[in-house]
Amino acid sequence: MIYRELGKTGLKISVFSFGAMRWRSEESCYEIMNRGMDLGMNYVDTSSGYVGGKSQVWTANAIKHRRSEIYFSNKSNWADAPDESKVRHTIEKQLRETGLEYFDFYQLWGLGNMETLKKALAKGGTVEGIRKAMDEGLVRYGPGFTFHGPDEVFKAAVDSGEFLCATISYNIMSRKQENLIDYAHQKGVGLFVMNPLAGGVLAMADGKEFEFLKGPGCGSCYGALRFLVANRGITTCLLGLTDIEHLEENMKALEGAEDLDEAYRIELGAKMAEVQYTKGNFCTGCGYCRVCPNGFDPSHFMQAMRDYTIYGVRSENLENWLYSKYVHRQTPRQELAKCKECGLCEEKCPQKLKIVDQIREVKAALAV
Ligand code: SF4
Ligand code: SF4
Repeated sequence: MIYRELGKTGLKISVFSFGAMRWRSEESCYEIMNRGMDLGMNYVDTSSGYVGGKSQVWTANAIKHRRSEIYFSNKSNWADAPDESKVRHTIEKQLRETGLEYFDFYQLWGLGNMETLKKALAKGGTVEGIRKAMDEGLVRYGPGFTFHGPDEVFKAAVDSGEFLCATISYNIMSRKQENLIDYAHQKGVGLFVMNPLAGGVLAMADGKEFEFLKGPGCGSCYGALRFLVANRGITTCLLGLTDIEHLEENMKALEGAEDLDEAYRIELGAKMAEVQYTKGNFCTGCGYCRVCPNGFDPSHFMQAMRDYTIYGVRSENLENWLYSKYVHRQTPRQELAKCKECGLCEEKCPQKLKIVDQIREVKAALAV
């Protein structure tokens, strides 16, 4: 295992850690957690919202007999913890539910705008509540925040000097917020990465154009993870594991990875950008196209089509794919019928993607 120092705390966090949002059962959670800890993984990120509320309990049950070997991180969303007293109440409730005496880390979940940040930092705000919980031994380190928002909010949070660590979504095909990694690193804030394999899509990328990502005895996850490990600004990658086989495969990416450098990262990133460019749809998921007057969501549609076309997920029927990855409630045909092909969304796309052509193509394929 490779360990990275967290800011100036002296804590050493394993570069691969557990993102506990995809457990399939309590048994597999136990098996994966314990095997991962045997392999040196020492950080787990959970919440009371993952896996229908079961994740934090299953995860706690899996590690109780080895409590000192792992940093257990929990979090509150803004609705549950808008101020000092409510976050305190939430922390106590989560400790009761998990049966743990303390959390090692505590995070504010889903920071996304300046107003929320200001409220969290204000007197009587969430940050103060977490700090009090730290003073009383309910939480050991923090606060941290998980982030889905504009760069300036992230930078303001880091600049406040109040946060020990931050978690962002980042991977080799979605690098829009790469600058935030450097920013946090320079300011001594730990940077944790969620979605390191783009929700598993990068692990499935099997076409010949992805040969450059594959490693000995493993698929595209090998290069995708080594790309992250080569970035010294990343403290840890939260692996959302579902199977023990995935854990074993992911771990192969660490073999000889200590010496991976910037040149390796640049080379791999350039190859991925070339594949994305050649394939045409390199949607970053920025969401700027969500302006449809008819209620269609081009962003999720384009991301679903990106994954379908770029990553060669051809085992799936297109309609089933769109249903599972995109629309969920309506049928893809009902959803696509909302689009009147006005082009408004396309004008907003910073990547200049041909959204309307993609919609037309899929409408034709599904006979909408
Ligand atoms: S082309 Fe117009 S109608 Fe279709 S999704 Fe874009 S904004 Fe909506
Ligand atoms: S604006 Fe373009 S890149 Fe951004 S989500 Fe929409 S299609 Fe994707």
